[in-house]
Amino acid sequence: MSESTTPSAGRADATVLKFGGTSVADAAALQRVAGVVHDAQRGTRPVVVVSALAGGTDALLAAADAAASGDPKLMLPQLDALLERHAEIARGLARPESAKGIGTVLARARAEIADLLERVAAEPEHQPALRDEIASYGERLSAALLTAVLLAADVPARYVDARHCLITDETHGRATPLPNTEQRTRAELAPLLDRRLVPVLGGYIGATLEGVTTTLGRGGSDYSAALVGAALAAREIQIWTDVSGVLSADPRVVPGARPIPSLSYAEAAELAYFGAKVLHPKTIQPAMERDIPVRICNSHAPGDPGTVVTARGEVRAGAVKAIAHKTGITVLQINSTRMLGAYGFLRGLFEVFERHQTVVDVVTTSEVSVSLTVDDAGSLPAIVAELQALGTVAVESGRAIVCVVGEGLRITPGIAARVFATIADINVSLISQGASRVNLTFVVEETRVREAVLRLHEALFERQGVDLGAAAAAEELAS
Ligand code: ADP
Ligand code: ASP
Ligand code: MG
Repeated sequence: MSESTTPSAGRADATVLKFGGTSVADAAALQRVAGVVHDAQRGTRPVVVVSALAGGTDALLAAADAAASGDPKLMLPQLDALLERHAEIARGLARPESAKGIGTVLARARAEIADLLERVAAEPEHQPALRDEIASYGERLSAALLTAVLLAADVPARYVDARHCLITDETHGRATPLPNTEQRTRAELAPLLDRRLVPVLGGYIGATLEGVTTTLGRGGSDYSAALVGAALAAREIQIWTDVSGVLSADPRVVPGARPIPSLSYAEAAELAYFGAKVLHPKTIQPAMERDIPVRICNSHAPGDPGTVVTARGEVRAGAVKAIAHKTGITVLQINSTRMLGAYGFLRGLFEVFERHQTVVDVVTTSEVSVSLTVDDAGSLPAIVAELQALGTVAVESGRAIVCVVGEGLRITPGIAARVFATIADINVSLISQGASRVNLTFVVEETRVREAVLRLHEALFERQGVDLGAAAAAEELAS
């Protein structure tokens, strides 16, 4: 019998519950989390993944930055305040003996972090690894704290060091998980689940095969939860955050954005990739590979229905489900007559980006030009220098991507016309209908992106009488 079919290998009755920073910001928030985990024990076996307390990772990384600039003590008062927040919550919510234990853990962490900061200043060549080690305290401490709070709420919680589960490559700051992660995660968690214990692990962090601490990139706790869920073949992966699901637009730009009851994996992946911060862009892939539903819930309003993401999202009247946007984008345009009738040109072009480990998001081509976008401009000067061997290169910075998403786009004519008519006075470039055909993506100037998103939301979701996708919905339901 192969490993994946042994009865204890999969945990079809496990549910992963991931709580983001705002869900563990203070004592009241942690108490709500304890209530959610307590209730989840009915009918399923919870596995808890938790982020650093709100602002924790920012504070730790700011301290590492200060140390890198030669002042390892500059941010110690801010770090003390962060550690004190943990202590105060423990005193308020944990049993006295666990609160004392947390106090000891915090004192040790303070000394270790201070030492690591000194090393950042003294050993510039080790900065990436030291930064990850420093950042990891955010999740390690919040997971220890949440374990103590759950125990006080009669949940049989057990702290697990996530670095024993998530095994990654050595790319500090944005590490990629290795296949060993599945087996290691199961080996760590299955025995606890078999004993009806509730594992609690920090998101965002992992370790190399040699045991050196790594991180998955900012916002990476969602991804951790998905990896843990996939390893356990969990029943569901729940992302508990501070909004009631994936909304029809970024609520910080569109106050009237509404929760979307259901999304397909393809829709959610496009939204996450093109700026919907509520999900880390890599969250969907592990879930999709195992066909595990992802549910986005509000820890401040646990009764709200939230959003469920599955292989096939519900088709509802309205072809467009949401608008995402992402700022800080650079557009590169490469013009070359050598493209005409030549093969191998595009390969050579993309190899430049591969060499510099720079992801290209949107691409459009004409007979003599290629336009594309990148959001990590770190290696741009070197990339442009190499591209100049292929043709003339124009660089436009300060751009933003807007992405209109909905399964119904596949079959509803006229949406592009409606979208572009709505923002006719805003300069649009690089229009791309994604290969998955669930998105219409284009680039505008960053200074006008809020206005573009607001107007599109108004036109596509709020204006009376607009029933963009009714025909499409009817057609698909009938098929
Ligand atoms: P957490 O700390 O729980 O991981 P995040 O701050 O990473 O939470 O993600 C939740 C936030 O994402 C929301 O508060 C909201 O401001 C932002 N957001 C951006 N776009 C969307 C969207 N389309 N739907 C929901 N939230 C969004
Ligand atoms: N704490 C990490 C961050 O702030 C990871 C996360 O919250 O998902 O980026
Ligand atoms: Mg997040």
